[in-house]
Amino acid sequence: QAKAEGRDAIRFFDPSMQEAAARRSEIEADLRQAIELEQFELYYQPKVNRDGSLNGYEALLRWHHPVKGMIPPLEFIPVAEETGLIVPIGQWVFMQACHTIKQWQQDSSKQQLILAINISARQFRQKSFVAEFIKGYMEFGFPAHLLELELTESLLMDDVSATVGKMKELNQAGFLFALDDFGTGFSSLSYLKNLPLNCLKIDQSFVHDMLEDPEDAAIVETIITLAKTLKLKVIAEGVETQEQAIALRELGCDLMQGYYFGKPAPLPLA
Ligand code: C2E
Ligand code: MG
Ligand code: MG
Ligand code: MG
Repeated sequence: QAKAEGRDAIRFFDPSMQEAAARRSEIEADLRQAIELEQFELYYQPKVNRDGSLNGYEALLRWHHPVKGMIPPLEFIPVAEETGLIVPIGQWVFMQACHTIKQWQQDSSKQQLILAINISARQFRQKSFVAEFIKGYMEFGFPAHLLELELTESLLMDDVSATVGKMKELNQAGFLFALDDFGTGFSSLSYLKNLPLNCLKIDQSFVHDMLEDPEDAAIVETIITLAKTLKLKVIAEGVETQEQAIALRELGCDLMQGYYFGKPAPLPLA
């Protein structure tokens, strides 16, 4: 009895839990002002073709906190989603990305580059998402296929019919979709054939161990085969070594992304 109470007491006063809660509420408060205070920046990570040529980039959000330093997206994106702040933040990312593509249009060596942005579920679920996206894009006037939207499986699974409708509308306007972190969610494979998808992104957790773990290797191979069957492109994320790149290329992977090819970096890009 006393032992159980003791355990509860320890849990109640667990300082690390209190610290985590305090940090979270600080992040929430500071996140509200981060756009206005211009603390966000987009980093760009290359995506390369099979022959090593550059296909485009993925835009990855960075938050330069004046006191806490760089806060990683895995810490603040969930807070932004819970609070709804992801909507204005996502809008900011979208506008920045459009500016960058527009700039690339002035440069013949960059005109063909595709830029991908990550879209969170809360953002995509907004009723006005499609209308605002298309309206925002119209002010820039570059070919729509140069802007790719990365969605996750869990996003697709909530409210499937509304999601499919929105994807089809955007796809008709020319935008491309990639399914991010593929293999970690539980998307019903039968949906895949009905979605206007352009590309599957093999989650980096499978790529990471594919040379050591036969099960991960089998998953990677299966996703590549699935993509080919569905006539989708397939990209591996988190490629860190030349050995992984060679193995992926041999398996028929169309595109690759990871530290081996380039880390996310701010503008101006080389
Ligand atoms: P993601 O979209 O799956 O992005 C891939 C993550 O893996 C990025 O982390 C990237 O920096 C990292 N990465 C790339 N190559 C390698 C590699 O070779 N090894 C390892 N270990 N990691 C690699 P990052 O930038 O910290 O972003 C994490 C997640 O945050 C993203 O995962 C995405 O879900 C989310 N995120 C980032 N930017 C945005 C954004 O603008 N909007 C939304 N809604 N989510 C974002
Ligand atoms: Mg992504
Ligand atoms: Mg991913
Ligand atoms: Mg990921």
